[in-house]
Amino acid sequence: MGGILIIEDEPGVQMTLEDCLQAEGYTTETRGDGMTGQEEAETGNYDLIILDIMLPRRDGFTVCQNLRKKSIHTPILMLTARNTNLDIIMGLRQGADDYMAKPFDMGLLLARIEAILRRSALTTSETNRSTNIYPFGEFLFDLQKGTLTQGDDLITLHAKEFSLLEFLVKHPNELLNRVKILNEVWGYESETTTRTVDVHIAKLRQKLGESELPRHIMTLRGQGYRFIP
Ligand code: CA
Repeated sequence: MGGILIIEDEPGVQMTLEDCLQAEGYTTETRGDGMTGQEEAETGNYDLIILDIMLPRRDGFTVCQNLRKKSIHTPILMLTARNTNLDIIMGLRQGADDYMAKPFDMGLLLARIEAILRRSALTTSETNRSTNIYPFGEFLFDLQKGTLTQGDDLITLHAKEFSLLEFLVKHPNELLNRVKILNEVWGYESETTTRTVDVHIAKLRQKLGESELPRHIMTLRGQGYRFIP
């Protein structure tokens, strides 16, 4: 998962893109024509697609249109030498997220890429929040359905474990002390103590398979816990 798919037929542009993107830490995959480019894009394994318009076998507009029709919503940055307004408008209407005219300035292209990726990351996290789905590691915690899954496996949680995990996923990366967790998850029930928190954290860790080596629920000695998604 991840990386940038380059669909471009000119070897010089391909190489420039690959070199610069890889130097910035992106992983890249390149296809030299519209047909194989579209096939690769359909795997959905990319964070971004850089798509040329004038391509052998299938032009970029058609590729873009086909991908959106097939519900592939990977952000697309159109690359074109034909930078007339009509083309640009057409490209954006086919579902592209941005465009750049060739020859392009690599610094500017990188800035555009960063902006698109930032926007799409934001949209994804907003979607997750509004649908109450919290992915972390190999797990998916779905508040709507009330389920915790690891791949295809459903993990059974008791009511308090569920509430505790809910509190944790909603406060990622925060230092949560035992008293705070106790008040938020248990309320002010008289018979519970901070020891109760530790017991339930231990049970949750067991269910997440991280009793020995915590990966998501970290202990901060003498301070409390921190949830790392
Ligand atoms: Ca071309």
